Amino acid sequence: MNISLLLQMAAEAEPDRIGLVCDGHRWSYGALLGAARGAAAHILETGATHVALLDESSEAAAIALFGAALAGVPYVPLNYRLADADLGALLKRVAPACVIGDVDRVQRLDPRSGHIPLSRGDFVACAEALAVGAPEDPREGEGIAAQIFTSGTTAAPKAALLRHANLLSYILGTVDFASASPEEAALVCVPPYHIAGIAALMSSIYAMRRIVLLPAFDPDAWLELAASERASNAFVVPTMLARIIARMDAGHRPDLSSLQAIAYGGGRMPLELIERALALLPDTGFTNAYGLTETSSTIALLGPEDHRAALASDDPAVRARLASVGKPLPTVEIEIRDEDGRVLPAGERGEIYVRGEQVSGEYRERKALDAGGWFPTRDAGWLDAEGYLFLAGRADDVIVRGGENISPGEIEDVLLTHPSIADAAAVAVPSVEWGEAVGVAIAARAPHPAPSEDELRTLIRNRLRSSRVPERIVVVDALPYNEMGKLLRREVKKLFQTG
Ligand code: ATP
Repeated sequence: MNISLLLQMAAEAEPDRIGLVCDGHRWSYGALLGAARGAAAHILETGATHVALLDESSEAAAIALFGAALAGVPYVPLNYRLADADLGALLKRVAPACVIGDVDRVQRLDPRSGHIPLSRGDFVACAEALAVGAPEDPREGEGIAAQIFTSGTTAAPKAALLRHANLLSYILGTVDFASASPEEAALVCVPPYHIAGIAALMSSIYAMRRIVLLPAFDPDAWLELAASERASNAFVVPTMLARIIARMDAGHRPDLSSLQAIAYGGGRMPLELIERALALLPDTGFTNAYGLTETSSTIALLGPEDHRAALASDDPAVRARLASVGKPLPTVEIEIRDEDGRVLPAGERGEIYVRGEQVSGEYRERKALDAGGWFPTRDAGWLDAEGYLFLAGRADDVIVRGGENISPGEIEDVLLTHPSIADAAAVAVPSVEWGEAVGVAIAARAPHPAPSEDELRTLIRNRLRSSRVPERIVVVDALPYNEMGKLLRREVKKLFQTG
């Protein structure tokens, strides 16, 4: 079992069809497979035990992913946006590796590691030069296709291991081979170090949908590329969608008539944003995809039909589904459990557990699957009577005030109803009396001034129990998010350390 099978099947079916477009260069499936084989030959020659990528999205990411797979060694994409200290720590965790991309930064941050650094251009040239005559069959290796560092929103990034079997099970279970028509193109703007970027490469290649790479997200570039390449599919995180919609609302409206499907995920989608997107792009099908690195990406989906039905319905229960992440994929099982591990019935909130072939639950240092093969996601949530899954924040974000568990989401939802609040986050702050208490950070909606502390406390007191009333309040220009649109609660907590 090897993920290189996906590219091999596409290349054997139609070697000359264009499979990937980046910066004006067009790669056929045949050329991509040749380069991946050449890359594998180079990796085997160097004896590298893993291949790291420190680079924006480009053809090098696809060649490195499949090249590493053919060589039987893990592919380890790194987050090039990390600060030097954090990236230096990750480089030490993966040393020594063949590192492709920002050679200077690798040598500066980890000079004694024994890495084999190669610039993007040198790597691609070397892979192409070795393509002819390179071994065609994949090496067995230890079965690990990728080692991906999680975002580290709550604690240090975890090194999740994804086996070929996990990734193949996800792709083969959700994508039909060569199911895309030759006109279809997937616009990929998520970074290569995120599971969504890797899943997009694999699923598009197997569906034989042309990949159009946008190396670094920018809403204008996204809109222009979507129009010029006649993109049919795209994946965005909520903050990207917000920026695209803002540009469209400002009058930037290129022809998006080719756009059949937009999938979104990675973080909470604000209701008003998805409603606006549905109104602006009524002919595009929207899908909310919920997943984790450790689960090879998506495990639950709210599809286009559910979006339309929720918008059109007068039934509050059906309308509320727009805020859900839909139903589990048929290939996975989901359970909600309480703190003692008991499975909870529909409607009750607990931790989301998932089981299935695509779920790795394996880290470099340990395995997180229980004896029954279930993986604790650390996400809180509940299932409704029809089996729709609702998320209620991360278990690690719960504020424990005097033994009472408070979910930040319930406080944030109330704060966001205030017309002068653009964004809000509730986090635990130390309290002598309660151990932890509620701290709230808000960003005002320009041009309005932020509401007073008294007004905010009254708003919460009128809607929620008194334990939810914030002890501390800070006003900021904007809350800290990473490039995948994830709120960095670690950083929000730091706002309360001063003043
Ligand atoms: P870390 O665990 O290091 O903080 P991370 O969990 O952010 O990193 P990822 O695997 O990239 O790393 O993110 C998975 C998490 O993203 C999920 O557990 C969930 O909290 C959130 N998420 C993913 N998809 C969605 C979605 N469609 N809606 C809301 N939240 C989502």
